[in-house]
Amino acid sequence: MKAYLDNAATTPLHPKVKAAMWEVIDEFGNPSSIHAWGRRTRILIEKARTAIAEMLGVSPGEIFFTSGGTEAINTAVYGAVIDRGVRTIITSPIEHKAVLKSAARAQALRPDVHIHYIQHHPDGAFDLDHLHDLLKKAPRGKTLVALMHANNEVGILNDAAAVSALAQQYEALFLCDTVQTLCHTPFQLPELGAHYAACSAHKFHGPKGVGFFYMNKEAKINPLIHGGAQERGMRAGTENVPGIVGLHKAFEIGMEALRTRPDHLLRLRNHMRDRIRALFPEATIWESDNGAVLPTVLAVSFPLNEKTEMMQMRLDMEGVAVSAGSACTSGAAQRSHVLDALNAPKDIVPLRFSFGDLTTFDEVNYAVEALQKILA
Ligand code: PLP
Repeated sequence: MKAYLDNAATTPLHPKVKAAMWEVIDEFGNPSSIHAWGRRTRILIEKARTAIAEMLGVSPGEIFFTSGGTEAINTAVYGAVIDRGVRTIITSPIEHKAVLKSAARAQALRPDVHIHYIQHHPDGAFDLDHLHDLLKKAPRGKTLVALMHANNEVGILNDAAAVSALAQQYEALFLCDTVQTLCHTPFQLPELGAHYAACSAHKFHGPKGVGFFYMNKEAKINPLIHGGAQERGMRAGTENVPGIVGLHKAFEIGMEALRTRPDHLLRLRNHMRDRIRALFPEATIWESDNGAVLPTVLAVSFPLNEKTEMMQMRLDMEGVAVSAGSACTSGAAQRSHVLDALNAPKDIVPLRFSFGDLTTFDEVNYAVEALQKILA
């Protein structure tokens, strides 16, 4: 038996996504060509755009296919600074590096850009009073609020609508990183009130290297990638047609799963949480104070000792894939910037179990048994 519980890192392709991609694999026409070959692939792309826009309650003209979440986020950050005159970026130290590093780079290129980091409540939720204070001092019409919908490491789901209400009050633009929430929590984009949002297909059983950038039509910016007129001039480069078809299918399946079995992911998560609580009282489980969690993520930490050190590797040897809430650089595990920013103690072993639509209760139970074996 094996258990793949690292779905927040990436998910396996859904068999129906694979079939949909396979069906179009020989459609090689360039979507920009006007002949029949090109028209066929153009139709596939526009079908995907229209369907995704409809599922999200936005207009197809607001969806631009990209290579994934990182590109979408970079497009928004650079565009806000270069095209919308943004000089203040309000973000959080627990954002994905795509936000943190593009903001830092924008500042390096334009030293009059200031970056402010909001504080958090102990559970990891954004301190909206602090956001309010920062917005009061920020220049109106020249500020970007870049705050994520849910955190990928600790699984806290933020109140994006409240962030957007504050941003609007102070005429700030709002970039909401929705990479971990699309197809995992039910919402339509207008509810979030974001000007910009990001999607990555490989987080919900779609292919890697494809996603989209959402840009509200009121908050136009210029492209990040220049060249041809693809994506209505907003993203140059010949489109990844099978990838976009796969994204379309994965989106359809993900949204349908949310509608027909809305609690599936949360049940998996809470089942694992309850078993860990019952069996390992020494474990600390990351929970939100108001119950707003990302159903795909369960962040747990164990006190550091001779049994728990190398836990991720030992689980791997048992056939259980998890993330250690840390990035590996040249073989040496580095502590996560998120846990540091949230002041998590140093003498812990963090583990992130994450679930997808294809995860089974058997896998969760097997992972718990593996933990029992390691910690016995
Ligand atoms: N934002 C969040 C919250 C993520 O978890 C990820 C992926 O790990 C990204 C952005 C980047 O997405 P992509 O892998 O498509 O570049």
